[in-house]
Amino acid sequence: MANLALQQLKKNFDQHTVIHGIDLTIENGEFIVFVGPSGCGKSTLLRMIAGLETISDGSLWIDEQDMTAQNAADRGIAMVFQSYALYPNMSVRANLAYPLEMAKKRKDEVASKVSDVAKKLHLTELLERLPRELSGGQRQRVAIGRAIIREPKIFLFDEPLSNLDAELRLQMRIEIAKLHEALGNTMIYVTHDQLEAMTLADRIVVLRDGQIEQVGKPLAIYHDPDNIFVAGFIGSPR
Ligand code: ADP
Ligand code: MG
Repeated sequence: MANLALQQLKKNFDQHTVIHGIDLTIENGEFIVFVGPSGCGKSTLLRMIAGLETISDGSLWIDEQDMTAQNAADRGIAMVFQSYALYPNMSVRANLAYPLEMAKKRKDEVASKVSDVAKKLHLTELLERLPRELSGGQRQRVAIGRAIIREPKIFLFDEPLSNLDAELRLQMRIEIAKLHEALGNTMIYVTHDQLEAMTLADRIVVLRDGQIEQVGKPLAIYHDPDNIFVAGFIGSPR
């Protein structure tokens, strides 16, 4: 059963079309990676899926329900950004609790979920710290924790590791793979790192100028790219 379906999805900014009619069906629990050059529309597409950007034309379906006109809160989707967007004056604990407090969850439920998520992401020792007292990797773990604490059906990542150094990126990549295994939910992940795409994805979607250039399993694309453009992202050494 399709978890997420995009049908002829389009986006215009003023007269300028940046997403040109995307058709894509994503299965429940799939890990999808979007790759493509800067400016090709990856972030815009994610923001449209999240409900942070309006849809100019076409439709978006979640679990067979038309969500095209639904706002972000009703879609059951959480997004993690490249910049961590934590509340600077709030502790890690308060940052994690915030989405649940906004949703008016009971205090004991908030406390137990915060401690579960902290355990999952190795943040237990850091709960009383402020964001500025954390490393980049730790901050990104808090941002991920704040997204998963709402137990979203669909989880979106926009280049979440691109501000981290190489070693931390590798560590976080392994953690994200584990997280996907543990949660089993649908994830869409934007990266320009070929290794991240190859190792994380069930399927890779290569985007170019707001259109899908190729979709397939990592090794299928790697060994059999449709054209030189695709090979430039996944496949032949650059
Ligand atoms: P990517 O994430 O792949 O680098 P983006 O989705 O950020 O690409 O941008 C796709 C295109 O849409 C770019 O040409 C960008 O300038 C344009 N764009 C993005 N957001 C806006 C906006 N709010 N207003 C006008 N143009 C935008
Ligand atoms: Mg982007």
